[in-house]
Amino acid sequence: MEEIYELVGFTVMNTFNQNGTQIIEAQTEQTSARCPVCQQQSSRIHSYYFRRPQDLPICDKNVILILRMRRLRCINKNCTRSTFSEEYPQVITKFSRKTNRLKQASLELHLNLEGRLGKG
Ligand SMILES: [Zn+2]
Repeated sequence: MEEIYELVGFTVMNTFNQNGTQIIEAQTEQTSARCPVCQQQSSRIHSYYFRRPQDLPICDKNVILILRMRRLRCINKNCTRSTFSEEYPQVITKFSRKTNRLKQASLELHLNLEGRLGKG
């Protein structure tokens, strides 16, 4: 499972089945992130938080990711932001409950259906 499942920027830690849903736990690989306010690179961890987006189904099973993300402390004393959370916009955008590739797949399915209906 770990071998075939790919999520850029994340390492799969654990995977298990819960009531027919495949749960995949992963954590971020990068050790530092840039403060969105002052652009200072920081690796000082403040805390961890979890995101639980839905991902593409595997073998017709729904997939829920449990992503362990870091909240970092900005080390720039002049910065207005004291902590910030790391982001992975290539995998999931802020506040989204679905991964980008799941959203993309849903969009393509929708367009295919529309195309077929259009042709009659
Ligand atoms: Zn900063």
